[in-house]
Amino acid sequence: MPYAYDDQNIFAKILRGEIPNKTVLETEHSLAFHDVAPQAPVHVLVIPKGPYVCHDHFALAATDAEIVDFTRAVGEVCRLSGVQPGEDGDGFRSISNAGEHGVQEVPHFHLHILGGRPLGRMLA
Ligand code: 5GP
Repeated sequence: MPYAYDDQNIFAKILRGEIPNKTVLETEHSLAFHDVAPQAPVHVLVIPKGPYVCHDHFALAATDAEIVDFTRAVGEVCRLSGVQPGEDGDGFRSISNAGEHGVQEVPHFHLHILGGRPLGRMLA
């Protein structure tokens, strides 16, 4: 069972309100909040509210409504955080770690949005 969801993971606890978070945006199906250990001036995590382990799980199992909501939430987070590429923002990086090789720490799908400084070239 590749996508067994552990509902005791820290983001599940955040979604249930058991752990506080600094919310950037909440929508019907998604939540975005500041990373507790930011790696850049802007470091926001965007997560779906549904129980998806990683990006591929979300892509295969989420409803169209959840996927649209999440995708729009990512765009809105970039806008709200002021990291849109161009005159005003200078761009960002979005990263999703999955599984052991991807060194995923929290087994609830999340997209890191990093920006606010030059991030350097990095693919692996
Ligand atoms: P991963 O390695 O799974 O891609 O990233 C997990 C991220 O979650 C890390 O950047 C880590 O700093 C962040 N994180 C871990 N625990 C908490 C928490 O309790 N609250 C918040 N806001 N972020 C957390």
